Amino acid sequence: MSKFTAEEIVDINNKFKTPEEVLKWGLDNLHPKLALASSFGAEDVVVIDMLLKLNPKARIFSLDTGRLNQETYDVMDEIRKKYNTDIEITFPDAHEVIEMVQVNGMNLFYDSPENRKLCCGIRKVHPLNKMLGTLDGWITGLRSDQTQNRGNTIKIEIDEQHNSMIKLNPIIDWTWEQTWDYIKANNIPYNKLHDKGFPSIGCEPCTRAVKPGEDLRAGRWWWENDSEKECGLHMDHKK
Ligand code: SF4
Repeated sequence: MSKFTAEEIVDINNKFKTPEEVLKWGLDNLHPKLALASSFGAEDVVVIDMLLKLNPKARIFSLDTGRLNQETYDVMDEIRKKYNTDIEITFPDAHEVIEMVQVNGMNLFYDSPENRKLCCGIRKVHPLNKMLGTLDGWITGLRSDQTQNRGNTIKIEIDEQHNSMIKLNPIIDWTWEQTWDYIKANNIPYNKLHDKGFPSIGCEPCTRAVKPGEDLRAGRWWWENDSEKECGLHMDHKK
């Protein structure tokens, strides 16, 4: 439960404008019970750079679903070495995964939206919830133009989906171009799948490159046309 009221959060949002100001407020008030959830996409490596420049001991965690791309493991190691930082890795519960694949198969996500959400639940959402249960606040690399859902997200919010803890979205108002300008200007390691047409990177079997002009998240669960392209990690509490 957040120690800040909704009114205080509105005031804080009005006070801090830059991503670094938002992160510094989080570190001053919540560290070490504050951590960045990183999947090592372009936005996340930007926030990692900002965060570790403010405090080299700031915490970063990542959900290893067991189905990630080799390029994602590569950038994790590059980040770890460049910043001399630990990355806290979570894994899904082995019993849950075994039961799921024995009943539904290894590639169940292609069979139906329900099966895809089951897999995301077991491999991503449950480990995330377990980690968040140990924290008072978390940080994301969300940007508002990634999906319709994220358009209502603000920089500092009370996360009603997760026990009303604090959620910081420091680059929520950044563009894709700003993100890449920062990566280049600061020489930050990034996931090489971005050079192969992957703007949004998730698990290997569920992500493909996008064609010029396609939506940035069109490559996620590309076989699903109608379902909401979110995995349950970031739900819009206003909907
Ligand atoms: S993105 Fe695909 S493989 Fe990864 S957890 Fe979700 S359904 Fe499973």
